[in-house]
Formats: sequence, C-alpha cells, structure tokens
Amino acid sequence: MSDMIKAFVIDSIDGKVESRLKEISRADLPDEPILVQVAYSTVNFKDGLALTGVAPIAQKTPMVGGIDLAGTIVESASPEWKPGERVVINGWGLSQQHWGGYAQFQRVRPEWLVRLPDTFSLTQAMAIGTAGYTAMLCVLALERMGVKPGRDVLVTGAAGGVGSVAVALLAKLGYKVAASTGRPETHDYLRGLGASAVIDRSSLSSPGAPVQDERWAGAIDTIGGHALANVLAQTAYGGAIAACGLASSRDLPASILPFVLRGIALQGIDSVMAPKAAREEAWLRLAADLDPRKLDAMTSIAPMSELTELATRILAGDIRGRTVIDVN
Ligand code: NDP
Repeated sequence: MSDMIKAFVIDSIDGKVESRLKEISRADLPDEPILVQVAYSTVNFKDGLALTGVAPIAQKTPMVGGIDLAGTIVESASPEWKPGERVVINGWGLSQQHWGGYAQFQRVRPEWLVRLPDTFSLTQAMAIGTAGYTAMLCVLALERMGVKPGRDVLVTGAAGGVGSVAVALLAKLGYKVAASTGRPETHDYLRGLGASAVIDRSSLSSPGAPVQDERWAGAIDTIGGHALANVLAQTAYGGAIAACGLASSRDLPASILPFVLRGIALQGIDSVMAPKAAREEAWLRLAADLDPRKLDAMTSIAPMSELTELATRILAGDIRGRTVIDVN
C-alpha cells in the first residue's frame, strides 16, 4: 500500500485561504485510534465556506477539508469498532479542528462514528451527508413539537441539500409540503421530490408584517433572515419551526408577536455537536423514511479535482440537491 494519499487541503498563505488537491503522507494523519479508508465525502454549504475562506471554518492549517466522510474501518484500537465495519462521520469539528473527509484515508475518534444502516451504500451515505442528516434532525424536531402529518408545512431553500432531503422526507411522511425556492427551473424537480406546492422565495425575502395569515403548521428553514421572520409570521396557532440554516442571512429581524399571540415554537437545530443518540436515531429514521429513488434523483457525483468550483457554486446557491465527492 502506497504511503502517499490524495487529499484536498486548506492552507493559509500570507493570511489568505488556499485550498487544493495534494498528495500527503499517511504518516502525517492525526494520531487517532481508528483508521478509516474513506470512500466518499460530500459538499455542504459549510464546506463551501471552509474551502473558499469566506468564513473562518478551518481553525488551524494545513487542514484536510470535508465535514463528512463514509468509509470502512481498516484499523481499530477501540474495542467498540472492528476492521470491515462501514461507518459515517458528520460534523464533530471535521474540517474545523480535526482533519476531515477529503482524503483517501483518515484517522478518527471512536465516539465520532455512526454505523451505517445496511439499507444504504457508502455513496448513499454521503448523498445524505450532513445536509440530509440535518434535514432528518429538523423533521424529528417538528414531530416532537407536535406537527402532525396531513398538515401544511413549508421548506425554505428547498432546492438545496438540506431542503431537498427535507422535502422528500416530509412528503413521504404524509405532510402537505410547500417548497420555497428562488430557482424557477427547479419547480419540476421539487414536485418530483413530493412538494405539492412551490412558492417563489421573493414572496418571503422582504420585511413583512409581524403577524400574517396563518399558512403553516410547521416549517423547516435553511436560509434565515427576512424569510425566517416571515415564516414565523405565517405559522398557524400552536405551530412550530425548525431553523437550521443561514444561506441568506445570519440575522433574524423578527417580532415577538407570533410567539405571544399564537404560541408558536422555534427550535434551533445543530448537527455538529449533536449527541450520539440523536445521530443514531436520525440515521435509523433516514433508513426508514427516505425514498432511495428520490435520494438518487437529487444526487450527483464528482471527483475531488472539482471541489474548488463546487465550493464557489454552493455559496452562490447554484447547486441543486446533493453532491457526493469520490475521494479515490
Ligand atoms: P445548499 O447551498 O445546498 O442550499 C441552500 C439553499 O438556500 C440554496 O439551494 C437556495 O435554495 C437557498 N439560498 C442560497 N442563497 C440564498 C440567498 N442569498 N437568499 C435566499 N435563499 C438562498 O446548502 P445546504 O443545504 O448544505 O445548507 C443550507 C443551510 O443550512 C446553510 O446555511 C448551512 O450552513 C445550514 N446547515 C446547518 C446545519 C446545522 O447543523 N445547523 C447543518 C447543515 C447545514 P433555492 O435555490 O431553492 O432558493
């Protein structure tokens, strides 16, 4: 086995972030107890931020990028994990404090690993990735907050990664899904994933009245800003919103009125440090509730050599669905 492996590395050169495909030595991998042969990683919005340096995601350099990985254990110094097991990692500071999934091999900590349900191939695991697992965390949050199938729910940033998986999951579970998108060319795609209505994101993107007509029993918001404020204002009495994203803005220019007049709930969702039990629940529910044909319909596969371009495109809102990265 060659000592040299391919990796996509974030460097800081004269204070400027530069990311590129390199060969690194296996001996340089971090000193962690489990060696994973990585099959696939993926591109999430946060990967776009990390690789371009638009936000300071990598907290030290050189940093192997990729907040997700899926692969097979090759060596394990942990009694809990054995060579040959198929595993997934989402978050836990990969590409931030710890080297991530854009490498043919990676050394990782046992507590970061989730066993991949048999239902999924390693490609499908990364078609889901952080975006899909976060969509499931959002769905679970809506369920816990009492939003029942059959009701009207809204997904914003619907043609993106989190949004696409959220639309597919909610439709399969029997919700009436409205998908908000800024891209008219994705309307047929979103209906194919199960959306029963598509709305133009411009209807949500300007400041609106603090309380508006009651439209949604629940919502999953991936974009923040005025859109989230308007979704709060349109949520029906007793409804709930899971907020996970900031693709348009990190601000929340909203009013307290929907909370005190309609008793609605706003639940923040974090995937990075979510506890193991929440991750395992999300992956088991993805195995049960995500239609593999819809997952395939939203997924494309690219090599690491395209990461620079993909990082720029995802920040521009120009990627539809999910992109799997073949690291080999
Ligand atoms: P994507 O880029 O795949 O999707 C984001 C979507 O948001 C785009 O497809 C687009 O949807 C919409 N969008 C993009 N830019 C704008 C804009 N300026 N104004 C309005 N809408 C916009 O990203 P991901 O799905 O990977 O991530 C979505 C968000 O969720 C990101 O902010 C990400 O950081 C966050 N996230 C948070 C996690 C957590 O743990 N809390 C985990 C995973 C993601 P359309 O074209 O349909 O309008």
